[in-house]
Formats: sequence, structure tokens, C-alpha cells
Amino acid sequence: MMNILLLGATGSIGESVLNVISQNKESLNLLGISFNKNVLRYQEILKEYSPDYVYVDDHDSFKSLCNKDKGRYLNGDEELERLINKDDFDIIVCATSGFAGLKSAYIASKTGKKILLANKESIVAGGDLILPLAKENNTEIIPIDSEHNAIFQCLSGEKGTEDVKNITITASGGPFINTPIKELKHVTIEEALNHPNWKMGSKVTIDSATLVNKCLELIEAKYLFNLDEKYFDLVVHPQSVIHSIVTFVDGSSICQMSAPDMRVPIAHALSNENRLSIDFNNLDFNNLNLFFQKFPSDRMEIQNIAREVCNKGGLLGTVFNAANEVAVESFLKKEISFDKIYEVIYRTFDKNILSNNVSIETINEVDAQTRIHAKKVVKSIA
Ligand code: NDP
Ligand code: MG
Repeated sequence: MMNILLLGATGSIGESVLNVISQNKESLNLLGISFNKNVLRYQEILKEYSPDYVYVDDHDSFKSLCNKDKGRYLNGDEELERLINKDDFDIIVCATSGFAGLKSAYIASKTGKKILLANKESIVAGGDLILPLAKENNTEIIPIDSEHNAIFQCLSGEKGTEDVKNITITASGGPFINTPIKELKHVTIEEALNHPNWKMGSKVTIDSATLVNKCLELIEAKYLFNLDEKYFDLVVHPQSVIHSIVTFVDGSSICQMSAPDMRVPIAHALSNENRLSIDFNNLDFNNLNLFFQKFPSDRMEIQNIAREVCNKGGLLGTVFNAANEVAVESFLKKEISFDKIYEVIYRTFDKNILSNNVSIETINEVDAQTRIHAKKVVKSIA
């Protein structure tokens, strides 16, 4: 039986993980969860899975739950650290959204356990901290992000990445793939959140609509597979059936395919020696017309920033991530129009930031400073 700690249990990835667990109860057990403040969803999870450990990050929600059941709930940095380090857990799923996930990914990277990683922002903002720590402590990181899980599956059975010639990361392109940025001024929140293929949390859905998600994933891939950014191409594939392609030096290209459903990479990542069985939507290969198109030229500037982050590393990813998070929040609060998300990132990104001294403290500090800067930019262009 594998005992699982699911961080971010009340979210979209959390829901997919729970679904895979519920279909494999004989081998998977939900032993602990964390969430921020969605108490209603938590109560549903409690009813169905009754996890032993529950960490609640938002203090008011923690307090209100403690009023009903004193002593049951965990809160605060020390308790989070103690929870993640408990011997009882075999697998830690990092599915918190945004920079908030860094804290737990950082602690988890030192445990020597198996981490299933969905929270790409922790790698973008802290890759130069987390990856070396994981290596040092024999912590295994298995990606859940569908593209990275696809690459991971394509590489399984290989000696490593030495025979890789190049890797193509596919992007759905989101709802506005064929519309130039300059025509996106009047996009509504509802339109931006209406992803053609995937149902996800709001932050990653907006990232997908701007294509910044693919830029974050480029950085994530560089760190997870320890390859130079030059190995990676970003290609638009609107059907989201091929999740990425690895081409080897002998000319073979291997890809991983499935219907767009996050339970597929999650089931792979949760499997041990044998694959887990889940109910999934079959691909109908008799009626499948797959196509690909170039990354749009007016989104190349943002891709180039991500490539710069890959090449320079250090705290540059922290800046890129924080600038994007503030831009997305500002759009969702109706402070800026959709097209201005790019402008906030361009104006906030400072490629000359001192990037050598990477620690949890410097990452938190640069993140906080960048947010202040980005909010000023938002005010100046709103
Ligand atoms: P959601 O917004 O749906 O869920 C986020 C989860 O994180 C919720 O459980 C939320 O709790 C919790 N959370 C937020 N802030 C905190 C905090 N400060 N402390 C503890 N928990 C917190 O996000 P998604 O599930 O869509 O995405 C999660 C991560 O996975 C993101 O990094 C995303 O980029 C990545 N990802 C998502 C995909 C998807 O299909 N959704 C695909 C690939 C990657 P609460 O509900 O209480 O607010
Ligand atoms: Mg992805």
C-alpha cells in the first residue's frame, strides 16, 4: 500500500489525483492532505477519504475548523515541515498552485521520498535550489505536468538523455492561438478561462491562454531533464493528443499520446512496477487528424525571455514567475486588459538581477521585491 500526502487536494490536479486513488484503493491510500481555504471541498474529501493528516494554510479557515474539531488540524511553517517529513508517507504530490507551492516543494526535496510534481512555479522560481537538493538527498521527482510526464515516459528505458537529439514540447495554444496579441484587448475573463481542451485551475488556464504556460514549461523541462534550452522546441498542437516528442540521435522520434485528461499522467506517476488501471477516454485512431503549427511570432518575445531564464538560471526564474503571477492576478481582478499581461512581464523582467546567491531566503526576497515592482507597473499602465 502506498501512503500519499496530497498537497493542494482541493484543486483541479487534486481532484484528478483523488479520482485515480479512488479507482485503485487496493494499492493507494490518501493519508494526508493540504489546502488553503476551500473548506467546502475539503469536507467532501473528508467524507470520502478521511485522511489522517490535514494541513490548512489559511489561518482563518484553520481557526474555524479548529472550533469544531480541536487538535485535528495543522497550520504554520513548522507543522508543514513536520508533516512533509513524516515517515508514514511514501509519496508526496505537490499540486499547490503558484509560488505558494515553493515552500512545500523545498521541504519535500530534502526528504529522500518520491515527489510527484505538478507545481511548475516552484521549479521556475527555485529550480537552482530544488533540483540540487533533490539530487543530494536521493529524492525522486516524477513530473505530472502532461508534457514533462510524456518526456519522462519517452525516456524510460533509455540510459539517460545522452542519445537525445531534441525534444518537442507541444502546446494547445489555448483559446486565442490564431489571434494576434494586439487584438486581445477586449478579451473577457470568461473567454480567457474557457480553454478548448483542459479544465484546470484559473492561474494555469490564463497562462495557457497567453502561452506563458509553455514558457514556464520550457524552464521546468530544462531543470527536470538537465538539458540545455537549445534541445527544446515549442510547437503548437491544438488537439492536445501528443503531449511531447523525444527525437533520438538515430532519427527515431517517440511520443506519448492520450486524450487530454490529467488522470493519465497522474496514473503513470502513481504507478509502481505495474501500470495502474483507470477508466479513460479511448482515442479513436480512425478519426484522428492531428496537426501542428508554429509558435506564433508575436509570442516569441516571451519565449525568448524564458530561454534567457534557462541560460542564466539563478534568481531570474523567480523574477519571471513573480512578474507573471502579478500580471495574471491583475487581469483576473480586472485591473489590466488581457494584452497587458505581456507588457507587465516585459517591463518587470530585469535580466541583470544578481543571480548567484540562490537560497530559500533570497528566492522569497526577490519574489517579494518583484511583486512590488510589478504592481507599480500595473498601476502605471492600467
Ligand atoms: P487550483 O487552483 O485548481 O488548485 C490549487 C490548490 O492549491 C488548491 O488545493 C488550493 O487550496 C491550494 N493552495 C493555494 N494556495 C495555497 C497555499 N498558500 N497553501 C496551501 N495550499 C494552497 O490549481 P491546479 O490544480 O489547476 O494547479 C495546481 C498546480 O499544477 C499549478 O502549479 C499548475 O500550474 C499545475 N498544473 C495544473 C494542471 C491542471 O490540469 N490543472 C496541468 C499541469 C500542471 P484552496 O482550494 O483552498 O484555495
Ligand atoms: Mg502542461
